Amino acid sequence: MLEAQDVPGGAVKSDESVRPGWVHDTFSSFYPLAAASPTIQSLGLERFGLEWVKAEASVGHPLAGGRWAVVHPQAEDTAAALDRLHPGDGEAWLRACSLWDRVGEDLVNALLTPFPPVRAGVRLGAKVPSLGGLALARDLLLPVRRLGDEWFGGEGPKLLLAGNAAHADIAMDAPGSGLMGLLLAMLGQTHGFPVPRGGAGRLTAALVSRFESLGGEIRTGAHVEEVMIRSGRAVGVRLRDGEPIGATRAVLADVSAPALFGGLVPWSELPDRLRRRMGSFEWDAGTVKVDWALNGRIPWAAAPEAMPGTVHLADSVADLAIAGAQIAAGRVPERGLVILGQMAATDPTRAPEGGESLWAYLHVPQRVSVPDQPHPEAVDEDRAERVADQVESRIEEYAPGFRERVLDRRVLGPAELERRNANLVGGAVNGGTAAMHQQLFWRPVPGLGRSETPIQGLYLASASAHPGGGVHGACGSNAARAALAHDRLQRVTRRARISVG
Ligand SMILES: Cc1cc2nc3c(=O)[nH]c(=O)nc-3n(C[C@H](O)[C@H](O)[C@H](O)COP(=O)(O)OP(=O)(O)OC[C@H]3O[C@@H](n4cnc5c(N)ncnc54)[C@H](O)[C@@H]3O)c2cc1C
Repeated sequence: MLEAQDVPGGAVKSDESVRPGWVHDTFSSFYPLAAASPTIQSLGLERFGLEWVKAEASVGHPLAGGRWAVVHPQAEDTAAALDRLHPGDGEAWLRACSLWDRVGEDLVNALLTPFPPVRAGVRLGAKVPSLGGLALARDLLLPVRRLGDEWFGGEGPKLLLAGNAAHADIAMDAPGSGLMGLLLAMLGQTHGFPVPRGGAGRLTAALVSRFESLGGEIRTGAHVEEVMIRSGRAVGVRLRDGEPIGATRAVLADVSAPALFGGLVPWSELPDRLRRRMGSFEWDAGTVKVDWALNGRIPWAAAPEAMPGTVHLADSVADLAIAGAQIAAGRVPERGLVILGQMAATDPTRAPEGGESLWAYLHVPQRVSVPDQPHPEAVDEDRAERVADQVESRIEEYAPGFRERVLDRRVLGPAELERRNANLVGGAVNGGTAAMHQQLFWRPVPGLGRSETPIQGLYLASASAHPGGGVHGACGSNAARAALAHDRLQRVTRRARISVG
């Protein structure tokens, strides 16, 4: 495995560079998708030192008037709390949970296996008629704003769905956002939002130990510059310093689609059709990531009954819809979703006793329109710092005195994220938009839809491939399975040819 950076792990790393003693996850932090992923589960990473820990509650939204909407570990407790906010919503939450109990596992398996998902799809298809048939299919295609309004009366559960949908870059009014919100909210209900004890880097450390225990070798500081191709087949890669590295069976490229097609593989080796289609590849929004070392926990004006590890700050679903539209229009939203991670409240090993390693990110446009300027600009360091100041003011609204607890702060704007990991182009966290037009058979572009590429023996293994961003291991595992299956087939064909010969 060849890794350009000095430390393996991609967007799954932790460090103590904000302040010694405070462990911060440099990029991703909460792993409900990993917890639900058959791929990650099948690796048995616990044998390699991984220990999952969870907060008292998975995810929560502070609401006006000091109330909270929180996903508690037990569905009945979540329902009771939501019912206190708005009578009737408790029963509606339990209805959503019971639907999820029947279709959730098949849905997750269908999403996390290669497209088309034959086995899970057939199981799911068999269940749908008894669960409402076309009416259910319609609901699952609804935009999250509409789904929330149809299923619930109060703002609490609507925000829980919408906030979870806003992790991806699908607009609140776009089809597919409802399913995304429901998926993450229900994973929060069934699996929680677990984190590795000690930091996200422990997940990578377990993967590395497992890989090395099986004979795998990792070279860091090894930037791949080119995929070597002979007669239409990938035969290895060349590093930036010119060193060639042969591949006997396959090359799995965990790089973005634009970095692979027309980058590591020149257009001259690829069909014109792919070049044309890659012209319409769409990146997801950029990201500003902020970390704070605090000398105490967040001083919430009103604390929730159970403290969630993940906290979403958003005043209303309408605000989230406006923020999405602002990002699409090239404006930095004033009141977009702030995703906060109370890491030490989740895993006390992350900070000295009583302290907090606070983690946050929010989405910004890839390029910002500037009045009187012909071309939009990237979000530079200054703007990223201003965005971080805005985030602090937002936290202060719910937790007066927050700023007084800040010992140190680190802001990673889009350019810095990309410098630390070439896949995070302009701060995009998903390897391309998660909007419906770039999902399933259209990911990364129509005509691909699976990890196979037009070059034999070369597979796209990153979040640019189906099913997209998030730490679930499915993109890599799909690519590896495809590579092994083709390799087996080739060997059999070769043997058959020899015996015929
Ligand atoms: C700030 C942030 C917060 C996030 N939060 C969450 C979260 O809480 N939960 C969640 O599930 N997901 C989260 N995500 C998304 C998730 O981390 C990514 O979707 C996921 O890591 C993508 O995996 P990947 O294998 O495609 O790429 P990456 O994890 O980005 O790994 C790609 C690797 O390839 C290396 N590389 C790239 N080009 C080359 C080259 N030419 N030669 C050699 N090496 C190369 C990179 O250095 C990197 O190590 C977050 C992402 C970010 C940035």
